[in-house]
Amino acid sequence: MNDGVVYFEKQKKIYPRSVKGRYRQLKWLAMSVLLGIYYAVPWIRWDRGPHAPNQAVLIDMPARRAYFFNIELWPQEVYFFAGLMVLAAVGLFFVTSLLGRVWCGYACPQTVWTDLFVAVETWIQGDRNARMKLDKSPLSLEKIWKKTLTHALWVVIALCTGGAWVFYFVDAPTLLDQIRHFDVSYMAGSWILGLTASTYIMAGYAREQVCIYMCPYARFQSAMFDKDTLIIGYDRERGDPRGKHKRGDSWEGRGHCIDCTQCVIVCPMGIDIRDGLQMECIACGLCVDACNDVMDKIDLPRGLIRYDTQKNYERRTLAQKTAVLFKSEINLLRPRTFYYIAIMTVISALMLFAFLNRSNVELSVIHDRNPLYVKLSSGDIRNTYTLKIVNKTREDRIFALEIDGLSPREISVAGAGAPQPDNLMVLANSVGTFRVMVVLEAGKAMRHPRHNLRMVVRDQEGFADEMETVFISEGVQ
Ligand code: SF4
Ligand code: SF4
Repeated sequence: MNDGVVYFEKQKKIYPRSVKGRYRQLKWLAMSVLLGIYYAVPWIRWDRGPHAPNQAVLIDMPARRAYFFNIELWPQEVYFFAGLMVLAAVGLFFVTSLLGRVWCGYACPQTVWTDLFVAVETWIQGDRNARMKLDKSPLSLEKIWKKTLTHALWVVIALCTGGAWVFYFVDAPTLLDQIRHFDVSYMAGSWILGLTASTYIMAGYAREQVCIYMCPYARFQSAMFDKDTLIIGYDRERGDPRGKHKRGDSWEGRGHCIDCTQCVIVCPMGIDIRDGLQMECIACGLCVDACNDVMDKIDLPRGLIRYDTQKNYERRTLAQKTAVLFKSEINLLRPRTFYYIAIMTVISALMLFAFLNRSNVELSVIHDRNPLYVKLSSGDIRNTYTLKIVNKTREDRIFALEIDGLSPREISVAGAGAPQPDNLMVLANSVGTFRVMVVLEAGKAMRHPRHNLRMVVRDQEGFADEMETVFISEGVQ
C-alpha cells in the first residue's frame, strides 16, 4: 500500500560549482600530497641485501612477508597489523572528536578521487552551468567529444589507481614491465580491472551516495562529537532573517544572509548547511569559502558560515541576547581527548615493546599426534616432533638442537640425507622444517607417563630460541 511515503528516490545529479578560497586550497594540497604518496611509494627502492626484495613498501603474499622500509613482518607477527589498525581507528576517533569530519572532507579516498574526477569534468566540460547545459543539450559533436574525453580520462585515472594498489603487492617495475607486454598474471589482472572499475564507478557516478548510504563511519561518528568539536555551521543568529539585498539597502532588522545560495551550489553533497548540521555534511569547508567570498563582495565580516564549536554558537547567541561581549574559545583539552590519547599511548607502547623485543630466530615444535609414541623392538619409546626454525636474518645459519630436562638415548632427524641434529641448516630469511625423532630408554620412559622437556636451537653466534614440549609414554604396556 502506498501511504504517500517515498521509499526510493532516483539519484539527483549534483553539479558543484568550483570555488576559490582557503579550504579549497587546503583540499588541493591534501589531494596532491595523498595522491603523490599513494602513487609514488611503490617505486621507492630499499636495499635489503640479496635475500629480500628491494621495494621499500611491499606486501609479499606468496612469501607471506610484509616489508615497510627497514621493518619486515612475518605471518606470526600479524598482531602488528591488528595493532596498527586499532591505532589508526582510535587516531581517527581522536581527530574526529577535535576537528569533526576532517577525514571525510579532506583525506578519505572517496572524497579525494571524487574531487579529482570532478576537477577533470570541470576542466573539459566547464563549470556548473556549462555542465548542466551540456547534459540537457541534444546529442552533438561537441557533447560526444567532451563526454568521451571526460570518461577516457576517468578510466586512465581509475586504471592508475587500481594499478598502483597492486604495485604494493608485487615488485612494481616487474609488474609494469608485464603490463607493457600484456603478460600479467590472472590474479594481478583481475585486481587491476576490479579496482579500476570500482574507482570509476565510485568517483565517477556514485560520489556522494557512497558517503550517504554506504559508509558506516558517517553513521556513527556523531558519537565522537561533543559541544567542543569543530563543525561547519551557519550562524543563524547573524544570518536570519535572510532575504535578497540590494546594494545600499539597510541591514537594520534583517540578517546578513542574502539568500544567494552560493553555499548550496558549491556543496559536493548537494545540501543546504543553513538547514543545520546534517549527516550528509562532510565538513569540506567549500561552503565557507563560497560564503566568505559573498561577504567580501557585500562588505560584511566573513564567517557567516564557519568552522566553530556548538558551544561557541550557543555562547554567541546568549551573548547577543544579554549584550555581553562574546569571545570565541576552542577547548582542545577535555576528558574525551585524554581518553583517546591514553588509549593510543598504551597501544603504541605495547607495540613498541613487542617490536623491540622481537626475536630474529623463532622455534616452533609440534608433537606428532598420530601416533603419540612408538614402542621400538628394543622396548625403548620414540616420540616424533616437527620443528620449524624461522631464520629472519639475512644470513644462512646452522643450528644445533639441544634437549633440556630429558636424557634421551638418541636424537635424530628423519629422512634420507637428513642432517645431524647439531647441523640444522636454515637459509637466510626462510623457515627450516625438520622431523626430529627422540628415543628414550624403556626404563626411563616408564617412570613417568609424560616428561616435560625443552627444545633449544642455537647457532654459533648465539641466535637461539626454545620451546617447551612433552615426551609421551602414557599407555605403553
Ligand atoms: S555543507 Fe559545506 S562543509 Fe558540508 S559538505 Fe556541503 S560544502 Fe562541504
Ligand atoms: S552563501 Fe552565505 S549569504 Fe549566500 S546563501 Fe549561503 S549563507 Fe547566505
